[in-house]
Amino acid sequence: MELNKRQTEIFEIVKADGPITGEQIAERLKLARATIRPDLAILTMAGYLDARPRVGYFYSGKRPVQSVADSMIGMKVRDFQSIPVVVEENISVYDAITHMFLEDVGTLFVVNGSSHLTGVLSRKDLLRTSLGNNELEKIPVHIIMTRMPNITYCGKQDTLLHAAKKMMDKQIDSLPVVKDNGGGLEVVGRITKTNITAAFLSLADDHEL
Ligand code: ADP
Repeated sequence: MELNKRQTEIFEIVKADGPITGEQIAERLKLARATIRPDLAILTMAGYLDARPRVGYFYSGKRPVQSVADSMIGMKVRDFQSIPVVVEENISVYDAITHMFLEDVGTLFVVNGSSHLTGVLSRKDLLRTSLGNNELEKIPVHIIMTRMPNITYCGKQDTLLHAAKKMMDKQIDSLPVVKDNGGGLEVVGRITKTNITAAFLSLADDHEL
């Protein structure tokens, strides 16, 4: 919800000097008590302020429900993305597994010699290949990876909601964040379910956890 100028002024006064009565707020604004009554009603109904009889208005400290939704819609991939872990498409499945452990990630992004995104390797892609296979050093990852054009990705300007929806729709754990540099897609970040969880937690603000 967008507050108008007067509502914002009232909110600031109460936040700074509350608890404060409606009468005192009106006085500060040089307005009649009746004039600001609708604004006070809106501010309390929306959860910006609390009101108690014989105490007055005070700042609830809670974020209004609408404002949480606004924050969520405003969240961008660029503010929550992690550093991507990228491997070259000719490395072996064995090396990819080692890489995954060393870098402590669940997904590796695969690039060609020009550093353009060509594939994705998940934990289960590597596990599947490892089952009953003793020659993991000899299998290059490009044989087993999920490859372009079947890669789902996002850009850093995209909303986090958009990225979360893609992950849910495709039932995948992560998305490469890419930049189209003409010849191909350069991997500039990664969004995982952990990033989405972190964003979810950030909405809780200063609420007790
Ligand atoms: P896991 O396979 O460990 O459960 P995922 O659910 O992320 O992990 O991956 C499922 C399958 O989808 C794998 O075969 C993987 O290669 C593929 N995959 C993962 N991320 C993407 C993506 N961003 N775009 C396309 N395919 C992907």
